[in-house]
Amino acid sequence: MIYRKFGTTGKEISSLGFGCMRLPEYEKDGQWFVDEEKAIPMIHHAYQNGVNYFDTAPYYLHSNSEEVVGKAVKSFRDKVMLSTKLPLDGIKAPEDYRKMLEKSLKKMDTEYIDFYHFWGINKGVFDDKIMGLGLLKEALKAKEEGLIRHISFSFHDKAEHIKYIIDTAEVMETMLVQYNLLDRSNEEMIEYAASKGLGVVIMGPVGGGRLAAPSDLYAKLTGKESIATYELAFKFVLGNPGVSCALSGMGSMDMVEKNLLITSNENPMSEEEWKQLGTAVDQLKKFSDLYCTGCDYCQPCPKEIKIPRIFNMFTYHNVYGLTDHAKHELNRYLEDGGKTIKDCSDCGRCEKKCPQKLEIRKQLKRVEEVLTSI
Ligand code: SF4
Ligand code: SF4
Repeated sequence: MIYRKFGTTGKEISSLGFGCMRLPEYEKDGQWFVDEEKAIPMIHHAYQNGVNYFDTAPYYLHSNSEEVVGKAVKSFRDKVMLSTKLPLDGIKAPEDYRKMLEKSLKKMDTEYIDFYHFWGINKGVFDDKIMGLGLLKEALKAKEEGLIRHISFSFHDKAEHIKYIIDTAEVMETMLVQYNLLDRSNEEMIEYAASKGLGVVIMGPVGGGRLAAPSDLYAKLTGKESIATYELAFKFVLGNPGVSCALSGMGSMDMVEKNLLITSNENPMSEEEWKQLGTAVDQLKKFSDLYCTGCDYCQPCPKEIKIPRIFNMFTYHNVYGLTDHAKHELNRYLEDGGKTIKDCSDCGRCEKKCPQKLEIRKQLKRVEEVLTSI
């Protein structure tokens, strides 16, 4: 495993972080459980191979993730860093910060959280809640008491607002943002954050799965021998000198092994290669006209339209040219009684929740038109 300086926190972080939102689950009598027999060995295997950063959040895995992560790392708690998040939607008063923090500490069965994030903030939430309710003071108090080690934020908004947040709230020590080969909108702000001493963790290094399919992209872009697109995606993110860690939501032991192999590579991308690739990759912009990360925030739709699944089918066609596969997936979905834009009631709920600000209804219509006409 390769370790990197984590901003000015004084910590060294593994270049691969374990996102604990896709661990295996099962359903019993209408209730969801994490499949601990599979999930805990995955976390142990990652730890044994050098991963020292585990990221969770209160609502992940039907609100079971924090508990399982805490349980999994119990015997080596002091050797790893735990990250979790404060959901700001439920925060109405300054004291709610402490209540939510205590809930997370209890669930994770730990005395402290290494990186406590203001979760998924945008400028509005930052102004109204974090500054408006004086939550930075609460965070500093929790830090002084040793309940959290570092103050962090995760972000979903226009890139330029990152600068505003960092400059206004000078106590932020690390940030978690999206960045990948196909979406480099936060690139400048990553550089800014790093220059201000923040540690930077990246979510979505493989672009919501779009970069998971095989292609000869690397060879096309560089003229060198081809490497797997998935590997290229990781290398690109980690080639950015401002990035400390690429966080991957791992859902199987195979995926853990694959990611460990890639991030243990002794020959990471050099800064020069990274720059060259960045220039070449601008050609890929056409791939980004429908950027669904598969985050599922738009779900459930009251009309049961499986929005991320439909957008994913389009990706197979539009990005990878796997048109037959896309059509096959759509047919399977329709045969199973899957709902489409025809069933939409126009409630607009999905679009309010989409961090990518996608015009979901318009895109659903377009995608279905394209996929049924090819
Ligand atoms: S606008 Fe349509 S697709 Fe979106 S949540 Fe409402 S019913 Fe579902
Ligand atoms: S919320 Fe937006 S990005 Fe997330 S799955 Fe739904 S459409 Fe895709």
